[in-house]
Amino acid sequence: MDANREFSGHFDLGGFDGVAHAGVAIVTCMDSRIDPLNMLGLQPGDAKIFRNPGGRVTTQALEALVLGVHLLGVKRVLIIPHTRCAMTSNTEQELREKVGASAGQDASWQHFHVVEDQLASLEKDVQKVRSHPLIPDSVLVGGFVYDVDTGLLDQKF
Ligand SMILES: [Zn+2]
Repeated sequence: MDANREFSGHFDLGGFDGVAHAGVAIVTCMDSRIDPLNMLGLQPGDAKIFRNPGGRVTTQALEALVLGVHLLGVKRVLIIPHTRCAMTSNTEQELREKVGASAGQDASWQHFHVVEDQLASLEKDVQKVRSHPLIPDSVLVGGFVYDVDTGLLDQKF
């Protein structure tokens, strides 16, 4: 709460309209090593950002992208998973065991949607957005891998 009062003391983002001013939407991982705005040279207000474990194009991500494209000024979509992601380096079973051990109870019913092949999943995710009936061909869609050790993006699709 102290940090928030401090933030509010020099808050200058009031009156924003919620449109993506740079026309950008980003789907990326929840990983704390990723700073989505700064890695693309963007400012608050420039982009719609959807994050989940692995940076996957889920049903909810598509909902966000459709809204972004039609109502919020999105013209480019960047799908950005990253190197050394826990969702690619564990199996579903391993994550269930780790969570189960932490929770002290059975976690075998919990789905985590691990990624077995990051590039194949990324290609499918890019395709899902490009082929969505409500996302027009005029929207540019790219698939990238972010290197958490160098800060560099590598465009794959
Ligand atoms: Zn990750």
